[in-house]
Formats: sequence, structure tokens, C-alpha cells
Amino acid sequence: MTRGTEAEEAVCRWLAEREGEMLALLEEVVNIDSGSYDKAGVDAVGERFARFFADHGIPTSWRRGDTYGDALRAELASPGSNLKPVLLMGHRDTVFPKGEAGRRPFRIVDGRAYGPGVADMKGGLVVNAFVLAALAAQDAAPGPVVALMTGDEEIGSPFSRPIIEEEAAAARAAFNGEPGRASGNIVSGRKGGIFLNLEVFGKAAHSGANFADGASAIGELAHKIVALHALTDLEAGITVNVGTVRGGQSVNTTAPFAEAEVDLRYVTPQQRAALVTAVERIVAASTIPGTHARFTTRGDFLPLVASPESERMMATYKAAAADSGLHVDGEFTGGCSDAGFSAAVGTPTLCGLGPVGGKAHSPEKYMEVASLVPRAQALARAVLRCEAGR
Ligand SMILES: [Zn+2]
Repeated sequence: MTRGTEAEEAVCRWLAEREGEMLALLEEVVNIDSGSYDKAGVDAVGERFARFFADHGIPTSWRRGDTYGDALRAELASPGSNLKPVLLMGHRDTVFPKGEAGRRPFRIVDGRAYGPGVADMKGGLVVNAFVLAALAAQDAAPGPVVALMTGDEEIGSPFSRPIIEEEAAAARAAFNGEPGRASGNIVSGRKGGIFLNLEVFGKAAHSGANFADGASAIGELAHKIVALHALTDLEAGITVNVGTVRGGQSVNTTAPFAEAEVDLRYVTPQQRAALVTAVERIVAASTIPGTHARFTTRGDFLPLVASPESERMMATYKAAAADSGLHVDGEFTGGCSDAGFSAAVGTPTLCGLGPVGGKAHSPEKYMEVASLVPRAQALARAVLRCEAGR
């Protein structure tokens, strides 16, 4: 087994020789549709990674679910080590519908790779997989390293959240492979977010003949939208966005039903409690008599809050990145990720360690091809230093 600088150099050399293989694997998985609700597709991406791990002698196991993508776990064991594992996290689902990969397959133009999920975050999965393979090939890991690849992050990880929490709680540190910022920075803090479905019930009546018998769910929803948006406090980092509305039956009927999808964002766990209470009050109070409402939580991301341990980890990563030729800082973002779940169980977590990307969730989303190998090297060095307690 190799150790220290020698191990780092061997691992980084191994990675440097594999850009072509990394891109080939990335092309394969980008060209498999894997929207969050497309379980078959998300699992097909998982099968491809399971095959990759098998080819590199790394054992895998699955946690199966009925509705969303299964969770794939690969573990590079370290016999004789009593260290807790380092956890490399990532998700295989994308925000794109079925058929997107056919319409917009993987391609590289001017050093940028395009295709559904290329940066968010199939590029990060490829990096995690190759880091594990490099550590295995060079027999370099002083402690166990686990890669977890889940399938429902874009919708709040309804199936994977407890699995992530369990793996993170057992780990000494978690590195999440979401795309690096367009600036090249990684993510040291994230907002928490809650997705709600708000339903308002009213009473249908002919709006000409018996208007007074009706109760408009649309009218009530309008009041609620104004009240919900008023909870936004930009300075405190709290935002409320009613992103979609739907409702009504016909132009001459008082609306018996209306619904909206609402996105709440906040920075601290304390803000979450106050925000949820305020939303509950707005939903419970009816301005228009004869209407009532309820909400269902569709997604619940916890914030990634920096801790003294995660700040030390940040310093380790920055140095590891510098030795891989990258200048990297930590950045705060309003976007949510699974990193909030690992951080919330007390495991120091860094996010945005995948290849550098931009224009998230849009068809112009890209990944900087030249960042693939250096980001993998930086991660590998950080994992080795983290395990060595440096
Ligand atoms: Zn993502």
C-alpha cells in the first residue's frame, strides 16, 4: 500500500491518464434518460455505474425502492483500518423529461460538454466513480471510502433521505459531487428549501344565476398568494415563490378548486420553524367564507450550514485543489442539495465538488471538459488527506 505524497501522485497520475475513459462513461450515462420520475432510467444509470465498479473490483450493494430510483452503494474497504468511511455522494436523476437525451444527446463543443444532466450531476458521479477506482487501483486509501449514488435528489430525495442520513452519520466526512460553480468555486453553504402543494376548496355555483351560493377557491388562493409572497425577506435570505397555479372549472362557475405549488427558501434551521408556522397560519385562515385549504409537503431540503469542522475540511480541499492546479473558494448558494441532509446529522460536508458547470437546469447547461481530471485529482487528494487527518 502506498501512502502520503507518493500515494497522491500515483492516484493523480492514474486519473490524468483516464480523461478519455471518463468522457466515454459520461457520454453513456448522459445518453440514458433519467428524470426523477423515470425509475427505469434512473436505475439503468445505476446499473452502468455498478458495472464500472465491478470492472474495478469494487463491491456494490443496492437499496431497492418501489417508486423512485434505487440507491447504489460502492465501498472501497480498508481491512485493518478502524477509521470511519469518507462518503462521496451523488444523484443520478435529472430534471429533464423522457426523450430529452434523444433530442439533445451528449456532445462536446469548444471544450464544453452538453446533454441532459451532464453537469448536474452525471459529471460528478463520473468523478466520484473514478476517484474510487483510482484509490483501488493504487491501493492508496488509508481508510474505507463509500460512494453513494441515489436517484431522487431533484425532487427532495423522498426515498433516499434516510439512506443518506444513515450513511452520513456513519461517515467522518461527506463530499457531494454537485457541479462546481461557473467560477470554479465549490459550495460551502446552501439554503434550505421546502416545496409545497397548496390546495384550496370552494363551492361551485352558476356565476350568473346563483352567484351568492358559490365560494371562489381562486379568489381565496389569490389572497393566500399575496400573503405568502409577503413572507419574503430578502435581507434575511427568506424567499417564498408561488411557482405554478391552476384551478377553476369554467368561466361562468365560481371556482370549486384551485391549487398552487410553492417554493420556500431559508438559511438557518431557526428560520425554517418560523416560516413553516407563518405558512400554516396563512393556509388555515380563510378570507372568503365557505373556502378551506390544506397543503402537502412535496420536498424538504435542509440547509447546508458551515461548521468549524466543515471549515477545516474546506481548508484541506482548497490546498488539495491548489496542488491540482485549481484556485477554489467556498461559495454560498440559494440552491438546495442532499448536502443539507448529511450536514444536518453532524457530518462535515462540502458540496459542489464535481466538474465545473453552468446554466443549471436549462438546455444550455454545460460542463467544462478540462475541469474533469483536475476536479477528480483535487477530490482524491482531499479524501486521502481527510483520512490521514491532515
Ligand atoms: Zn444536483
